Amino acid sequence: MTERMLKFVDVAQRTPEIRAAERRRRDFDEIYRGFDDAAAAEQSSRCSQCGIPFCQVHCPVNNNIPDWLMLTAQGRLEEAYEVSSATNNMPEICGRICPQDRLCEGNCVIEQSGHGTVTIGSIEKYITETAWERGWVKPIRPPVELDRSVGIIGAGPAGMATAEQLRRKGYQVRVYDRHDRMGGLLVYGIPCFKLEKEVVQRRIEHLERGGVVFHRNFEIGRDASLRDIRDRHEAVLIATGVYKARDIQAPGVGLDNIVPALDYLIASNRKGLGDRVPAFDDGGLDAMGKRVVVIGGGDTAMDCVRTAVRQGAKSITCLYRRDRENMPGSRREVQYAADEGVKFQFLAAPEAFVGDDAVTGVRAIRIHLGVPDASGRQTPEPIEGSHFTVEADLVIKALGFEPDDLPTLFGASELGVTRWGTIRIDYQTKMTNLDGVFAAGDIVRGASLVVWAIRDGRDAAEAIHEHVSANFEPATALAAE
Ligand SMILES: Cc1cc2nc3c(=O)[nH]c(=O)nc-3n(C[C@H](O)[C@H](O)[C@H](O)COP(=O)(O)OP(=O)(O)OC[C@H]3O[C@@H](n4cnc5c(N)ncnc54)[C@H](O)[C@@H]3O)c2cc1C
Ligand code: SF4
Repeated sequence: MTERMLKFVDVAQRTPEIRAAERRRRDFDEIYRGFDDAAAAEQSSRCSQCGIPFCQVHCPVNNNIPDWLMLTAQGRLEEAYEVSSATNNMPEICGRICPQDRLCEGNCVIEQSGHGTVTIGSIEKYITETAWERGWVKPIRPPVELDRSVGIIGAGPAGMATAEQLRRKGYQVRVYDRHDRMGGLLVYGIPCFKLEKEVVQRRIEHLERGGVVFHRNFEIGRDASLRDIRDRHEAVLIATGVYKARDIQAPGVGLDNIVPALDYLIASNRKGLGDRVPAFDDGGLDAMGKRVVVIGGGDTAMDCVRTAVRQGAKSITCLYRRDRENMPGSRREVQYAADEGVKFQFLAAPEAFVGDDAVTGVRAIRIHLGVPDASGRQTPEPIEGSHFTVEADLVIKALGFEPDDLPTLFGASELGVTRWGTIRIDYQTKMTNLDGVFAAGDIVRGASLVVWAIRDGRDAAEAIHEHVSANFEPATALAAE
């Protein structure tokens, strides 16, 4: 029996709980503490090259995972990097923060057979970090400079991916963002312990060195209208994400120290970046020593509870109105939170917030899951007389996000939106109902994932290139400086 087969027998003898705990520890160590070439090769060699690449099919950018695993196993890391970066503009970011358990790794046949997935995300991170260290990430050098320009509204992953793809073709690319730092939710949403901000900054600098121009603190709707931006460019991409927080209607919701998730996370991220944040420094948005209640069960809620752990909260309770199986986010994140000491109150919904000026508790009611609604999900129904109160000094509302009213904000009432307020596009051409105006990322899908935003951004770049090529005189090359 080979050494590899012996390992499988050994693994099979452990209980599922032990295997799951070992896997979590390994995932965490590999992603956040690191590999070396030999360990990456050993992990990659676990890929069975099964012939039906379910991992690739379930990766939104369709990364050619089996090939780069094989190359890594053979020690051919530079080639592995070439393959992985061919389909993804930020593999080291996806390697860190994709919910792999729902995407590539969750569909790995080794995982399905009970032996624990090949840890695809951590290998992807490792080979790309190695590429940065060893100088394999090549600067963006368009073969020709075109006299065609594209304006991109929003410097999140969708805008960044589009910018890179179009710049590589020689377009003059201008990105407008209302924030002081570029990266969208990569910078201000996702916490530092999951995604170090230097990693995002390195990508922004890579784009800037390649000729992408960023207009910081530039808000469409305040500093220019959509019409103004359209007049400046042959094509425009809207990639503004979704930011309107869903709220709770309950007595006492206006008490002090009940805050929206993004306010809390932005303050924490800004502190991590060294900014002065009065709302954090005066203690309002700092969980240190507090009894924290987070309402919601998605990935944003998990980011809040895990941030509160790191800030030194006294206790952390997550209230979620459905059960664990029905949580919308990554199961891995929920398990990490539980491992870190977060208490979950499943099947519980807030009814009222208690306190005089500031909140002191959340009055909640137990929930029973009733018959499925039109979407197929069971309807949460309160159980009469089942009230209980959770003490709280800080309540964080993490109930998800909706799109802002862009037609009004942009001064463009003619811009078509869906009944959910997301931008309506033609899925073939990626174009909105306005000629030459495209859209990508969360503002089209609703709150989604970084890797989907990258996919959309890449698709939008192709569509913009086709549109500009078909609708304008052949682009002339700018004289080299
Ligand atoms: C707390 C949190 C944690 C998350 N964690 C994960 C995770 O772990 N893994 C994962 O895959 N996904 C995660 N997501 C989801 C992911 O961040 C988003 O799906 C992704 O960032 C969407 O990319 P985008 O480019 O469409 O939009 P965004 O990243 O939101 O970027 C939009 C940009 O547009 C700018 N903008 C908006 N309006 C204007 C305007 N009027 N003028 C100029 N600029 C404007 C914004 O400032 C922003 O920079 C998380 C989301 C949140 C909220
Ligand atoms: S991009 Fe995300 S889904 Fe695709 S291989 Fe990487 S970690 Fe997996």
